[in-house]
Formats: sequence, structure tokens, C-alpha cells
Amino acid sequence: MKPELSIIIPARNEEQNVPLLYTEITEVLSAAKRSYEIIYIDDGSTDKTFAQIKQLCTKDKRVRAIRFAKNFKKSAAYMAGFAAAQGSVIITMDADLQDDPAEIPRFLEALNDSDLVMGWKHPRLDPWWKTIPSKVFNLLNRCLFRLRLHDYDCGFKAMRAPAAKELNLYGDLYRYLPILVSRLGYRVSEIPVKHHPRKFGRSKYGFKRIFTGAFDLITVKFLSDFTQRPLHLFGGTGLVALGLGFLAELYVLYFRLVEGELFVAHLPMLLLGILLLVLGVQLFSLGLLGELVSASRNVQRYRIAETLN
Ligand code: UDP
Ligand code: MG
Repeated sequence: MKPELSIIIPARNEEQNVPLLYTEITEVLSAAKRSYEIIYIDDGSTDKTFAQIKQLCTKDKRVRAIRFAKNFKKSAAYMAGFAAAQGSVIITMDADLQDDPAEIPRFLEALNDSDLVMGWKHPRLDPWWKTIPSKVFNLLNRCLFRLRLHDYDCGFKAMRAPAAKELNLYGDLYRYLPILVSRLGYRVSEIPVKHHPRKFGRSKYGFKRIFTGAFDLITVKFLSDFTQRPLHLFGGTGLVALGLGFLAELYVLYFRLVEGELFVAHLPMLLLGILLLVLGVQLFSLGLLGELVSASRNVQRYRIAETLN
């Protein structure tokens, strides 16, 4: 018998939190009368996290565990959890007790007309060095992507299993999960959720994430806008450079041929023109190269929602 829900919990050095969260989840889900499994992913913990998880596994067969050989980070933990999940609904939670399992029924309710329901930690009870970078991150996302959410990177979310299983998360891409899901044509919504301050253990993420995050943002933006047509990005700027270079050379030629001045009289413009022409050709070939890569890769370019007969 497959369970209805799969609760995926990545945990790195959360020894004190693991058993407490287990108790909270069990209470809520037995009251809600839902069948479920809890999958802990121990992401290379160096404390007793796995020993704690193991104890739960022997005590309760609904608890499953995956132990990573080393710290592979949250994207990998999600991927392993999604692959192992048997439920038709997948819920992810952080292991740190900051997310409140009492919200799970509300997630399930919202999932009735959505494929992914994101939590929005409101009010968020984290120190300023976490909330400020997060505000910047969310604002940037709202400006750059069509999907409008308050909180793009909440560890607490619920989704239909196919949406989760189709994702290819690596690096820090888990932070863009709702954008990647909506890119596949799934419906994404959000609900405000209760948030608790961290009591035990330490946060694994800090201020420096704002810098590494900038690269991921470029990757996701590029992936979502140009994967299937890299020439549109590079070709466009290439053409502009070519055009400007052409005009620059025309300008120099005009003074040479009509006014009879020497080429060296307009040396800067001459050089700028050459530079722009070379740049244009380079960018254009980069775009074509991108097209070549994109064409030879066998990625899925569409998702069918339904077929009849
Ligand atoms: N986590 C993980 N691998 C890591 C870092 C964190 O599995 O390399 C887990 C961590 O145990 C927690 C969740 O991801 O369950 C969120 O981490 P944390 O609470 O440190 O992040 P924050 O909420 O402070 O952003
Ligand atoms: Mg946390």
C-alpha cells in the first residue's frame, strides 16, 4: 500500500530537532487521518542526526532514511527524496522545527487547485542577516520572472508528485524551485505559514549566499528565457555590435573619401569600429554554438497535461 503523502526532510546536523519534529508530524497527520511516509535525508551530518533517524526507523516503519556519503547540499537531498517518494503528494520541510507541521492540512487544501503550494514565512522569525538578503532575493525574482510570490525559497511546500519528480535540481537551484516548476506549465500558489525561530542547532546559510545567489539567478533567468534559442540572446547583441561597428567605419570612410582626410585623423573611431565588428562576429558565433548545443541535447521541450484516447 502506497502512502498518500511523502514528507521529505533534508537534515544536516539537526540531532536535537529530528525526534521532536517526528513527534509533531505524527500528531498532526494521525489527527488528519492521512496515510504518509516520512523520508529523512541525512546530508552528511557530523553529529548524531543519523543515529536519531535510525531510531525512528526501527520504531516506526513509516519513517524511511537516506544517508548521504558526504554533504551534497539541499538540491541533492531534494532530488534523492523526490526519487524515493511513493506518495502522490510530496511535502518538503526543513528539519529545524522552524516550519510548523500543523500547517500541512492547509497545504493539502490549497493543493486542490494548484500543483505546487509554496509556504510564505509570515512573519519571518530569523535574524536580520538572513531576512535582508532574502528580501533582496525575493524582490529580484519578482522583477525578473513572471511568477509572483512573496517567498521563493521556503523550505516548507507541498506539490503533486509528478511536478517534483520532473525537476532537475543541482547547485543552489532548489531556491528557484517554484520558478522551475512553473516553467513546466504547473500551477503555483502560496499560503502564509507560521514560522518559529531556530531553537537548536545552527543555520547553515548566511550572508554570503547573496553573492553566490547572483550567479544562480543569471543561470535560472538564462535557462528559462534562452535555453531553446541561445541565438536570440547572443545573436541580438551581436547584431547590435555589428551594426554599430559598421556605422563607425562608415563615419571614418566618409572623412577619408569625401573630406579627403587621412585615416589616422580618425584613428580612435577606426579602432572602435573594428573592435565592434569583431565583437559582433564573436557574439553571433557564440549564439550559433549555443544553438548547436541546444539542438543536439535531448531535453524535453514540452509537457503534456492530458491526452484523450
Ligand atoms: N540542510 C541540508 N544540507 C545542507 C544545509 C542544510 O540538508 O547542506 C538542511 C538543514 O538541516 C535544514 C534545511 O536544510 O533542515 C534548511 O537549513 P537551515 O535551517 O540551516 O537554513 P535556513 O532556514 O537558516 O535558511
Ligand atoms: Mg531554518
